[in-house]
Amino acid sequence: MLNKIKKDILLKSLCFIIPSLIILLPASNGCVSHTNRNVVKVDCTKVKINTKIPGTPGITTRTTFCSDYMFDSKALKLAIQIFVEEYSEEFEISEDKVWALLSGLLIEVSAIPRSVHAAYDVSGKLAEGDVPVSGLALSKNHIWVEVKTTQVWSSSLVHELIHIIIWRNNNVHGDPDHEGSEFSGWSKKHTKFIKYMKDTLLAAEI
Ligand SMILES: [Zn+2]
Repeated sequence: MLNKIKKDILLKSLCFIIPSLIILLPASNGCVSHTNRNVVKVDCTKVKINTKIPGTPGITTRTTFCSDYMFDSKALKLAIQIFVEEYSEEFEISEDKVWALLSGLLIEVSAIPRSVHAAYDVSGKLAEGDVPVSGLALSKNHIWVEVKTTQVWSSSLVHELIHIIIWRNNNVHGDPDHEGSEFSGWSKKHTKFIKYMKDTLLAAEI
């Protein structure tokens, strides 16, 4: 399965590079066209916003607001599936265990940005005041992720999934200071893994 996904990604990435060269030239005008939209506009008066992600152990997604944007559930499923396969390989734990660590998770999304009173950057430096964030691990069962563009890769989904895995492993915290020394769990390997996953999802146009 992993090999098939990797092959698909390779094929898609080859197709992606060629049009990119053409598209990149007028990009300064801000007119890049996205043919593959993995973000959809939703209106809770018309469709049910709380959605079960198919093929996952009870992972659900919903928007913060009635009229908002969310990830297409098939794209979100594929992104999580690739995450599970890659995380399992990189951190040498079974895929079943990774799925179990994500089971029943609520992925809340919104196009409306959020800020918090304090947050750590990836190196563990604390920022205080009105700190804009692109994702939050609100509890070990609930993350919030800002939908930034038409794709999943540009969001902090992978970052927040790692917080959940750490949180559910130690039961106490999701290591809010990342590579900092105050909380344990997050390593440089996790930070590198996020970069790798972003590149992988980008190449797969997810
Ligand atoms: Zn974080």
